Order: sequence, then C-alpha cells, then structure tokens
Amino acid sequence: MARREIKGSRVLITGASSGIGRAAALELARGGAKLVAVARREDRLKQLKEEAAGMEGRIETVAGDITEPGCRQRAIDAAAMHYGGLDILINNAGVGAMGLFEHADPARVRRVFEVNFFALVELTRLALPLLKKGERPMVVNVSSILGHRAVPHSSEYSASKFAVQGFSEAIRAEFARHKIDVLVVSPGTTETEFFDSVLERTGEPAWPKHTPVSSEEVARRMVEAIRRGKHEIIPYFPGKILCWLNRLSPGLMDRYMKRFA
Ligand code: NDP
Repeated sequence: MARREIKGSRVLITGASSGIGRAAALELARGGAKLVAVARREDRLKQLKEEAAGMEGRIETVAGDITEPGCRQRAIDAAAMHYGGLDILINNAGVGAMGLFEHADPARVRRVFEVNFFALVELTRLALPLLKKGERPMVVNVSSILGHRAVPHSSEYSASKFAVQGFSEAIRAEFARHKIDVLVVSPGTTETEFFDSVLERTGEPAWPKHTPVSSEEVARRMVEAIRRGKHEIIPYFPGKILCWLNRLSPGLMDRYMKRFA
C-alpha cells in the first residue's frame, strides 16, 4: 500500500537538467507533483519545464550552483513562494572524478565533496523547517553503489558517497521524531551524462563488460520507493550482487579490486 501520494506533493530536486534527476522530475510531474528543479544549465531547465507543461504536475526552475549558499536559499524560497512549503527534498546532483589518488591534486577531493556532500547536507539543513511542516515529508539522498563498496580510480567519489550514506543513516534516526522519512537511492551504472561530466579523468579501471540501466528505470524505481516509504534501494541488479559479495567477504573483494588499480 502506498504511504505517500505523489499527486500534489511539493518536491525540490537538484541536478534536474540531465540524467536521473531529469527523468525523476518528469516521472514526478507525470504523477501530479509540483516541483522546483535546480541545476546550473538554465537552457536545459527551460526545456524540462516546457516538456512538463502538458503533464498533471508542474515544474518551476532555479538555475544555479548548489555549492553556493545563495542558490540553495533561492531554491528553498521558490518552494515556499510557488507552493507554500515542501514535502520532499531530493538531493540528486552529483559529480565524479576518475583516476588514481596519487595523481590527483587536493582541489579534486574538495570539489567532489562540495557538490556531493556539503551541498546536500546544507540544503537538507535549510529545508528542514519546511519539511517539518510538510505532508508525509521525506529526504531522498542519491548515493551510489560506490557508497557501499569503494573502487580504485574513484577514491574521492567513493568517499563522498560513503559520507552521504553515513549522514543519511544518522538523520534517518534523528528525523524520525519529526516523521520525516529518509530514503537512500544507490544507483549502479546508469546511462546518463555523468561519465562525460567528470571533473577530471586521469585514468580508469577496465571493468568487465556490464550493461547500464536507463535513467528512466532508476527514476521509476526511485518514485516507487518514495511512494512506499522505503529506506534504501539499489536499482541495479549487478550492483546489488557486488554489495552482497562485499558484505559476505570484504577480503576477497579487496583482492579482486587490486586487479583494477
Ligand atoms: P548527470 O551528469 O546526467 O547529472 C548530474 C546533474 O547534477 C546534472 O543535472 C547537473 O546539472 C547537476 N549538477 C552537477 N553539479 C552541480 C552543481 N554544482 N550545482 C547544481 N547542479 C549540479 O549524472 P547522473 O544523472 O548520472 O547523476 C545523478 C546522481 O546519480 C549523482 O549524484 C551521481 O553521483 C549518481 N550516480 C550516477 C551513476 C551513473 O552511473 N550515472 C551511478 C551511481 C550514482 P548542471 O550541469 O546543469 O549543473
């Protein structure tokens, strides 16, 4: 049974200009949600808004960089101004960087954490007063398989997603008294612009061939999990197996990972 109605829900989603965020925004608008969509590329946000125009829901946009406090405040203000509040915050925006730790400079880890972790934490802090007054409120944090098992050539990214995982577990317990659910979505390889938008690529592992899933599939699973009030989903079957094997035998997984470094 659904714990949460999508129709009429007021949603703030970051990273809505492409990939999983864009697909999730459209899936939610189709279901009748009222959204504030945030990203830096204004032209993409305009297209998104136009695409949603014939749908049951509605999309308002805020263009900006979520690592900037002013952008985060504008996003919260937009939810309050257009919809009178907020029910669901989806922290989806994220960036990666690829290559060995020893070849990276200190700026790389800082930028990855600014986008993937600090912006997510600070937007959650800012959204909390509205969420407390929301209807069946929820925070959705988009992590990664790499937030469960770190891999070589992605040390900064893996660490940032482990941080998201830890933060989410802690606030899930803390926010229970406000009746705010916390869902962590951990995608595996998904067909998006993510791998073209990495901050830096100084090397990458030669993974065995694997088939990515579509951003629409991840979005569909995310929205279903929001509806059902789930705490954690891994919308990628091979990723689920990886997490399971890692839990069963971390030593074996460590040996396997050395091959790809
Ligand atoms: P995309 O690159 O397609 O989307 C990333 C989104 O984040 C874009 O809308 C981008 O918009 C936005 N974004 C990035 N930096 C900022 C910023 N500083 N301020 C505002 N918006 C920003 O990738 P995905 O859809 O794949 O990524 C979505 C989430 O899924 C991320 O958290 C990622 O880590 C996670 N993920 C993805 C996987 C994959 O295989 N694709 C696997 C596991 C997790 P703009 O450039 O316009 O600002």
